[in-house]
Amino acid sequence: MAIRFDGRVAIVTGAGNGLGRAHALGLAALGAKVVVNDFGGARDGTGGSMTAAETVVEEIRKAGGTAMADGADVSNYEQVQAMVAKATEEWGSVDLLVANAGILRDKSFGKMELSDFQKVIDVHLAGTFYCCKAVWDGMKERNYGRIVLTTSSSGMFGNFGQANYGAAKAGIVGLMNVLAQEGRKTDIRVNTVSPTAATRMTEELLPPQALQLMKPEAITPAVLFLLSENAPTRTTLGAGAGSFAQIKIIETEGI
Ligand code: ADP
Repeated sequence: MAIRFDGRVAIVTGAGNGLGRAHALGLAALGAKVVVNDFGGARDGTGGSMTAAETVVEEIRKAGGTAMADGADVSNYEQVQAMVAKATEEWGSVDLLVANAGILRDKSFGKMELSDFQKVIDVHLAGTFYCCKAVWDGMKERNYGRIVLTTSSSGMFGNFGQANYGAAKAGIVGLMNVLAQEGRKTDIRVNTVSPTAATRMTEELLPPQALQLMKPEAITPAVLFLLSENAPTRTTLGAGAGSFAQIKIIETEGI
């Protein structure tokens, strides 16, 4: 049966660009009401306007979908709670969460400042924890939730210059492994996707020929599957060019 999200409310963080934008457009096209979150910050993690999120909301509305922009910084728990409260007030619930917001502060380990570590942990690991925490009780009450956390091959195999990012991304897999088990009784399913796609994050790392083959839109179907009724119950799904070796379905109970 084709996947649809009619009547579902989704939050996609970091959805002003790249992967998050593609996931938000994909969800809206299949009927979800979407909170397009992006704090609009620069790559180094400093804040900005939320223009990028608003632009994506316009795209969704033009295509006949329903969306609202939100400028929460995911590393700030009060702002994350306010985002969830706003969505719940407006649309009644939050059923689907894609934790995708991210930054890079790559440096070789010898040169990495403690602040480079802390900032990346704050946005990726604490930010992902905060988003899950803010939607969790509502999902438990309604006996339904689908959560997709974005990890990376960097967290599994390691990339040079990414001691901070790799540690955060491995931590996200650890978080998923616990939440997937704790959510089970109430049909909350938590999975991770490990994408390989051409985004602002990878443009400096990969050759142009590779980037042409790696559109963010190619990752979205994997995310939509992990958000669907029939999502697996604990998976790290590698998606995108060259990432097939990472597929690791830990459990498929419930399919
Ligand atoms: P990718 O698509 O690979 O994740 P991008 O850099 O294109 O890489 O997208 C990441 C998005 O996450 C950006 O739009 C960025 O503004 C957003 N972002 C970064 N930090 C935060 C944060 N603390 N809160 C919300 N959004 C964030």
